[in-house]
Amino acid sequence: MKSTFNQTIIELVTGDITEEETDAIVNAANSRLAGGAGVDGAIHRAGGPAIMKECRQIGGCPTGEAVMTTGGNLKARYVIHTVGPIYRGGTQNEARLLSSAYQNSLKLACRKGLQSISFPAISCGVYGYPIHEAAHLALKTCIEFARENTGIQLIRHVLFDQRIYAVFAQEFKKII
Ligand code: ADP
Repeated sequence: MKSTFNQTIIELVTGDITEEETDAIVNAANSRLAGGAGVDGAIHRAGGPAIMKECRQIGGCPTGEAVMTTGGNLKARYVIHTVGPIYRGGTQNEARLLSSAYQNSLKLACRKGLQSISFPAISCGVYGYPIHEAAHLALKTCIEFARENTGIQLIRHVLFDQRIYAVFAQEFKKII
């Protein structure tokens, strides 16, 4: 499912983000950029050791911010590593931090002149963010960004399974 906002298409798909051919894919990393389970592990496995080498040189990334490496062996030329919040009941600034993770990834892509970007469902795995709330924030942040910025032509939300896709689709229908 997709919809256009200003000059940007926002699209929801199911799939494996490591297969994406957008200019950049976003990694739901941890603040040490140390690699790990979930989508982070999948991206490093598919992209090869060049990505981790660059991550070590960068050293780390605070929650809500974003850094970029090349894409190694991936089809995407770049990986934007962002760090979503660990959900601790919703009182620890989680919403603002999750929104910042999306926003800073988009700003970085824009600054580098990229035209397309794919996001996983940041914080929706081991970081435990309630999926409906995370989906709403993710989509709202991307739509606001598209309304205020040109340059990025395509934002894809690549959802790993049907269940998460269904939640994103439900939240998308509410705001478009
Ligand atoms: P976090 O630590 O931010 O919660 P996770 O990697 O645990 O990150 O999970 C984030 C989301 O990414 C989850 O919905 C998970 O199902 C999904 N995911 C895991 N592997 C992939 C993949 N290869 N492509 C896209 N999404 C993935």
